[in-house]
Amino acid sequence: MFSKDSTNTRHLHPDFSLFFTFRFPFLIIFSTFAPQSFHKEMKIFTSVKELRAALDRVEPSGIGFVPTMGALHAGHRSLVERARRENDTVVVSVFVNPTQFNDKNDLKHYPRTPEADARTLEEAGADFVLMPSVEEIYPEPDTRVFDFGQIDKVMEGATRPGHFNGVAQVVSRLFDIVRPARAYFGEKDFQQIAVIRAMVAQLNLSVRIVECPIVRGEDGLALSSRNQLLDAEHRAAAPHIYATLRRAVERSREMDPAALKAWVTAEVERNPLLKVIYYQSVDALTMQEVASWEDAPRIQGCIAVQAGEIRLIDNIRIR
Ligand code: AMP
Repeated sequence: MFSKDSTNTRHLHPDFSLFFTFRFPFLIIFSTFAPQSFHKEMKIFTSVKELRAALDRVEPSGIGFVPTMGALHAGHRSLVERARRENDTVVVSVFVNPTQFNDKNDLKHYPRTPEADARTLEEAGADFVLMPSVEEIYPEPDTRVFDFGQIDKVMEGATRPGHFNGVAQVVSRLFDIVRPARAYFGEKDFQQIAVIRAMVAQLNLSVRIVECPIVRGEDGLALSSRNQLLDAEHRAAAPHIYATLRRAVERSREMDPAALKAWVTAEVERNPLLKVIYYQSVDALTMQEVASWEDAPRIQGCIAVQAGEIRLIDNIRIR
């Protein structure tokens, strides 16, 4: 009976004895001293008041926060995992904010997957999840108008009127509820981070904004909740956007920003399924387009592309 497996069996025995001799005591020590949050069950709140009551029982300096609009993917997950590593209490909001949608059709079709989101967040180690109704976040209509100078007048701000005002409304409201010490945002929405930083400075908030790198699919496409809305042929075309951005970094060595802009636009549109809404090489702090590569210490190439019905954005560091 053992003849066929005897080799394996013999090899297994030393492994098991090593496991029990050396690893088992380690596991006991580990589980005794593991942080409490490791064993905590995730709690989902629909009520702002109840979340606030739960947060009043934790140490404020240990609160990390990840705002999202749900339909979560590995990009969101990377933010939550980073927050998990850097905080005692991890709060995630899942809220499709109507005030940041300038296109009502876009809002209507935005993907919503609350059950799958809850599973993802549990796995990623969130402690508290806020999944509120619109009335819960906006008991009264939010009429605040922010002024971010030139930061939100270009790119996404110029092509999606009112978008960043809505982002500032919801993020300031969420910061007010959660009062995080640290908040995590993806570089996928590069201009959004600049807007949030400007908002934090204007409102004199003490939250630290943590920028997290873009998570991409194997084909290079930046993960986005909107990717699942692409039809098969536009989904197949979409990786060409990042492939072009990568080549743009090389090309920037032999051409100025204006020439690079023309090159990127023509190159992306070599695929007839993709239409460039804008491409700009911008100062990574001010979001203003540069005229020469010496204009700013860090320069980011930012692009928005229409792929059929779906609008995709991406960016890359040029300098
Ligand atoms: P959203 O749900 O689209 O509002 O995104 C919530 C947060 O996740 C924002 O800070 C985004 O920048 C971030 N995020 C979205 N996609 C990615 C990605 N592919 N990689 C890293 N962060 C991302």
